[in-house]
Amino acid sequence: MEEALRTLLLGLARNEAANGWMKRYGMRFGADRFVAGETVDEALIKVRMLEREKLYSTLDHLGESVDDGAEAAAARDHCMTALDKIAGAGLQTTLSVKLTQLGLDIEPAVCVENLHAILERARGHRNFIHVDMEGFRHCQATLDIVRDAAGQFGNVGAVLQAYLYRSAQDAVDLAQRGIPLRIVKGAYKESRDIAFPDKGDVDAQFVRLVEISLRAGNYTAIATHDENLINWARGFAYRNEIGRDRYEFQMLYGIRADLQHSLAREGYRVRVYVPYGTDWYAYFMRRLAERPANVGFVLRSLYP
Ligand SMILES: Cc1cc2nc3c(=O)[nH]c(=O)nc-3n(C[C@H](O)[C@H](O)[C@H](O)COP(=O)(O)OP(=O)(O)OC[C@H]3O[C@@H](n4cnc5c(N)ncnc54)[C@H](O)[C@@H]3O)c2cc1C
Repeated sequence: MEEALRTLLLGLARNEAANGWMKRYGMRFGADRFVAGETVDEALIKVRMLEREKLYSTLDHLGESVDDGAEAAAARDHCMTALDKIAGAGLQTTLSVKLTQLGLDIEPAVCVENLHAILERARGHRNFIHVDMEGFRHCQATLDIVRDAAGQFGNVGAVLQAYLYRSAQDAVDLAQRGIPLRIVKGAYKESRDIAFPDKGDVDAQFVRLVEISLRAGNYTAIATHDENLINWARGFAYRNEIGRDRYEFQMLYGIRADLQHSLAREGYRVRVYVPYGTDWYAYFMRRLAERPANVGFVLRSLYP
């Protein structure tokens, strides 16, 4: 039953008509629990609040699957302006970007040009860009582009999804190159030909990937709300004398704020992924799919 609901929600995440309808009404249905506002200025207010609470952040201007060059260029310009605003406001937040928002589906060269422009601007501000990982069909191209960009710029990191069989091999390669890694479980609907269907296997691979990255001395973002995995990572780092400056925990805005605060209070570096923008529908649906109980709070917001 839960798996069927998850499949339905991830299917709806790609549905154009539902997207249009939700864009008009969705904030009322609870999307604002996961989305920090529609503009960068609204999001920066949240970033400042997080910084006061000793939490770092990474901003994500929502949007993906862009198929128009002008839209991809606008997304690039938006990121560059956001980097200027972050620096101007004296805030520390980094940026996370999706390559399909920068034109990967149009033409990889367009996407590379846009990404490099953002990295150049970020470097000028001593800032850092994490490139999110999307559905499997973009995995190879995304890793190739990040690997290349890391060679030229240095201020860029990759994301590996623990549910993909291939990720252990990718972790070895990227860690050897010293490319900072964010390890996640994976948020898309993938076939069992390429991804572990069972949660136990995904968790075991998550552990494997964090181990590979940390043992290689690579800066590692452990991006999960799963307390078992977080506790395992703390123990692993402690036993292996891996300093707290070599890794950080990352969590999503609106999820397990209690855990974010308690880790920060204990002296761990915690970064909150802060999404904002008007194109929040697909992101919101993935958050519902991760925890179908979330559909309950959406329904409750319909009948307050
Ligand atoms: C900083 C960050 C960046 C990410 N970037 C990517 C990316 O680039 N590509 C990608 O595919 N995925 C990305 N993800 C999403 C990730 O793949 C998972 O889908 C998501 O983190 C949920 O898995 P989990 O590790 O928290 O574990 P789970 O086992 O799913 O959840 C553990 C516990 O966390 C809480 N929880 C988890 N999700 C929710 C939710 N939606 N609502 C309420 N509570 C919840 C619950 O208490 C749950 O019991 C990212 C996640 C984070 C934290």
